[in-house]
Amino acid sequence: MRRRRNGARPEPDRRPYEDNTHFAGEYTSEVAQGYMEGGAGSGVRAADEVLVDLGVTPAG
Ligand SMILES: Cc1cc2nc3c(=O)[nH]c(=O)nc-3n(C[C@H](O)[C@H](O)[C@H](O)COP(=O)(O)OP(=O)(O)OC[C@H]3O[C@@H](n4cnc5c(N)ncnc54)[C@H](O)[C@@H]3O)c2cc1C
Repeated sequence: MRRRRNGARPEPDRRPYEDNTHFAGEYTSEVAQGYMEGGAGSGVRAADEVLVDLGVTPAG
């Protein structure tokens, strides 16, 4: 991901692609971009999105 000239990271695009591909990774985090916490949290978010798509209630 390219940084803008002012050093800020661009707003990540988290929209599901074709409704059945979900993106995770620290760069998609709203709260901890660039950190382990962001990567882990985004994995949980993407897994929940997949479960919802499958009609399964996410845990927790
Ligand atoms: C030197 C360094 C020090 C850091 N120190 C800290 C720290 O102290 N604290 C902190 O919170 N964060 C730290 N970070 C940031 C942290 O490592 C990342 O934010 C975190 O690892 C991101 O997790 P992720 O799962 O999003 O991506 P990654 O951990 O990068 O995982 C992505 C995985 O996808 C794999 N992959 C890529 N392309 C493909 C492909 N085409 N097919 C299959 N697999 C693929 C990669 O091999 C990799 O295993 C540090 C980063 C670096 C580089």
